[in-house]
Amino acid sequence: PDLRAPTSLPPGRLNSELTAHLRALVADNFPPYWAARVLRTPAETTFIQPIYDLEVPHYTSGRMVLVGDAASVARPHIGGGSVKALQDATALEAAWTAGGSWKEILESYDAGRGPVGSAMVALARRMGAAQVENTPDWSAMGPTAFDAWWQDQNKGSDRRSGFGGHSLKAG
Ligand SMILES: Cc1cc2nc3c(=O)[nH]c(=O)nc-3n(C[C@H](O)[C@H](O)[C@H](O)COP(=O)(O)OP(=O)(O)OC[C@H]3O[C@@H](n4cnc5c(N)ncnc54)[C@H](O)[C@@H]3O)c2cc1C
Repeated sequence: PDLRAPTSLPPGRLNSELTAHLRALVADNFPPYWAARVLRTPAETTFIQPIYDLEVPHYTSGRMVLVGDAASVARPHIGGGSVKALQDATALEAAWTAGGSWKEILESYDAGRGPVGSAMVALARRMGAAQVENTPDWSAMGPTAFDAWWQDQNKGSDRRSGFGGHSLKAG
């Protein structure tokens, strides 16, 4: 299968080459305790669920409105998809309660939530790159270097960025 495109392989669909590659990655990179447990998974029940993300230029178009995962999907590092879905729904309600034509309501919702979705996707890409694809040698870092690295990859995640960790006033 072409693993560059989003696709999932259910149990039984991995060929022996992929299964061997996965097991080698786990054996080489996981702490021994976790590697031993993961490697107990029989090949016939092993499956692959790829991680991917989605960013859209607009949350609304004509009479169509996108909310939650349908509007944008960030990589799981930020663990914020549920909160974003709730905030999208709350923001749509607030725009509707504020009144105006449907065009105005949807434009207000799109202007408010589109940038938040894009910021989440960008932050999760940075975190994914730093934590998975391009990891530094953590064992060589002291506390100061680690703090600087952590701050660097979390740029844009402060409380003014519009998602996570603070309440959204309804209506
Ligand atoms: C393994 C995993 C772990 C996660 N962990 C976290 C976490 O720790 N924290 C966090 O914040 N987020 C987490 N998420 C992300 C979070 O689950 C999603 O961001 C969130 O559920 C999105 O909500 P939603 O309402 O937009 O979409 P969904 O929850 O996907 O809801 C869409 C609904 O539409 C239904 N549906 C689809 N097609 C149709 C149709 N044609 N007709 C009628 N109904 C239809 C589906 O059955 C589904 O019930 C995780 C996701 C996964 C997969």
